[in-house]
Amino acid sequence: MSTGVEACDESKLLDVAYMQFRNAVQQLALDPGLADVLWRGSRSYIVEFPVRMDDGRIRVFNGYRVQHSTHRGPAKGGIRFHPNVDLSDTKALAALMTWKCAVMNIPFGGAKGGVQCDPRALSLGELERITRRFTWEIAPLIGPEQDIPAPDVSTNAQVMAWIMDTYSILQGYTVQGVVTGKPVELGGSLGREAATAQGVVYSIREACLARGIDLEGATVAVQGFGNVGWHSARLLSELGCRIVGVSDVDGGVLNEKGLDIPALKAYEREAGTVAGAPGAAGIDNSELLQLDVDILVPAAIEGQITKENAARVKAQIVAEGANGPTTPSADAILGDKGVFVIPDILANGGGVTVSYFEWVQNTQKLFWQQEDVNMRLDSIMTRAFHEVLDIAQRNKVDMRTAAYMLAVQRVARAAEVRGFFP
Ligand code: NAD
Repeated sequence: MSTGVEACDESKLLDVAYMQFRNAVQQLALDPGLADVLWRGSRSYIVEFPVRMDDGRIRVFNGYRVQHSTHRGPAKGGIRFHPNVDLSDTKALAALMTWKCAVMNIPFGGAKGGVQCDPRALSLGELERITRRFTWEIAPLIGPEQDIPAPDVSTNAQVMAWIMDTYSILQGYTVQGVVTGKPVELGGSLGREAATAQGVVYSIREACLARGIDLEGATVAVQGFGNVGWHSARLLSELGCRIVGVSDVDGGVLNEKGLDIPALKAYEREAGTVAGAPGAAGIDNSELLQLDVDILVPAAIEGQITKENAARVKAQIVAEGANGPTTPSADAILGDKGVFVIPDILANGGGVTVSYFEWVQNTQKLFWQQEDVNMRLDSIMTRAFHEVLDIAQRNKVDMRTAAYMLAVQRVARAAEVRGFFP
């Protein structure tokens, strides 16, 4: 198979994503030509666009939108604003979205996009102008039936509102379904904001049942305190878990007796970081990953659990709230230690699942109650978890390989029955 990835460099997300895909292809003994189509059949859009900054200067930004697959439905995936955004990572994250939507069995393909920028150094006005101009640049690609963006690292409901507004102006009428993760006032779904974390929590609940761990009283460490990290910590503490450690990009905090998560969020909103919060000891990100806890939730960025630190991870369950937090070498080490890893394409699939619910509600112009959303999410997450666990047990593979096997098989089947144009 021609891959575009010659040898695996684990610091590159694209290499890691390919390794994970290839493991599943080998397990499934998939036709090499078909596997090539599934891995490489993407469309990449690169844009360079000018924005006037607050001080009057003009700056040119790089932006990307990659559609990895549309075999099972419109492309679907978040938009990230981060200094490290590049084409290679965006391709890898788009592929992850294809597999994630297939694991959850929702009728979407995979996409990802982003703008290379440091949102912490931008004013609100600059952020809005970047978002609107980037939307204009990628407008030919996106749309409710084509490709539907959503929030990712450093983008939120407000950014989605700007995207929806700009796209709607270009169309001449309001198009709610062009993005998900919108404010509820604009057609966003109840429960979307915390959906990724809610799904992480459902998958942890099932893993605890499989492992015989009592969720109530279980100890937890969470890396990242943004959308996924904060809501995961909050929901787990509401279920009676003891959240002993939390970190973000600037550092972390530890309290063996359990952190007060709402108070920590209030502190973080003021200080811009959890580091230095009162009533807790300071720790760094590497210490957080090695805490002696039952459950570790990496919910920040990729490449955090590596061959350098995996042997020192003490958690029994690692629930990947983030995309790509564990490298393949680290996966092998965790596997040998008997750690139960809930892979990203399963653990954090709750976000895209409620995005799908939002898109359905926008299409039908009929909105659901929060209980409805969470009940349907629970049912989809639980079903996906057990489908993956069943494949893992039957084939004696880890949960990640099993999740990829389920996903790749579903996309392969869709590609085969659609056939190859012309
Ligand atoms: P966010 O921007 O809301 O929060 C990111 C958090 O990670 C922040 O607390 C930030 O300080 C921290 N962080 C950044 N770099 C770090 C580093 N080097 N070390 C430690 N902490 C660091 O982003 P988010 O939406 O919560 O996304 C987090 C992860 O979850 C990403 O991998 C994203 O792709 C994934 N994800 C998000 C969603 C979603 O719905 N938001 C869905 C699926 C997956």
